[in-house]
Amino acid sequence: MKDSDLLEDVDKLLSQTDTNVSTPVDVERLALQEGFEVFPIKDLIRKYNFDSYINPFSSYIFIDENQYMNQYERARFTIAHEWCHLRLHSNFVKVGLGKERSEINEEDWVSFIGSITPQEEKSYEIQASIWAAYLLMPKGVFRYIVDTWFESFDKKQENIGIYEVADLMEKLVPEFNVSRKALSIHLKKEYPWIGEIIDAIKNGNSA
Ligand SMILES: [Zn+2]
Repeated sequence: MKDSDLLEDVDKLLSQTDTNVSTPVDVERLALQEGFEVFPIKDLIRKYNFDSYINPFSSYIFIDENQYMNQYERARFTIAHEWCHLRLHSNFVKVGLGKERSEINEEDWVSFIGSITPQEEKSYEIQASIWAAYLLMPKGVFRYIVDTWFESFDKKQENIGIYEVADLMEKLVPEFNVSRKALSIHLKKEYPWIGEIIDAIKNGNSA
């Protein structure tokens, strides 16, 4: 799927919700409304080295308990990412898992991942992360906030440096309740000209 198809799917989903989109998007409540339930699993990352997986037969999302309890901004992204897999890749996963079953466990997931090609995995992973970013940072409100900010500098890129972009990010992180990392990736995608400045912030340059 192309980025534009992923965006269109998110827009369709958000337009079907009963309320106007307010930020931060309540991803867990929306997922539940659609019939997708989230279950924290103790020590998932420590034991299996992945933070989440899904059961496409029951529409369950499993997530590392520690991430869910202690890193909720990351957990929100993980839930959105897995929701995308359930929504758009569920048939592919069902076929890969083999026969229908009400429960799947971590071992089933490990063997499923081992059965697909690295290209397949990469392509689905990228799609799910783009979809998750569009869900948590809905394009309309995201662009409105950043465009308004940019206008306050007379729309001049030369007026904007590390301090200004760092300030913007301070504002956007709580607005969308996402991690700095997820925000950086999305900002660079939507506003490529800010990318270089974000890299400079990340690398700790203070020119
Ligand atoms: Zn994934």
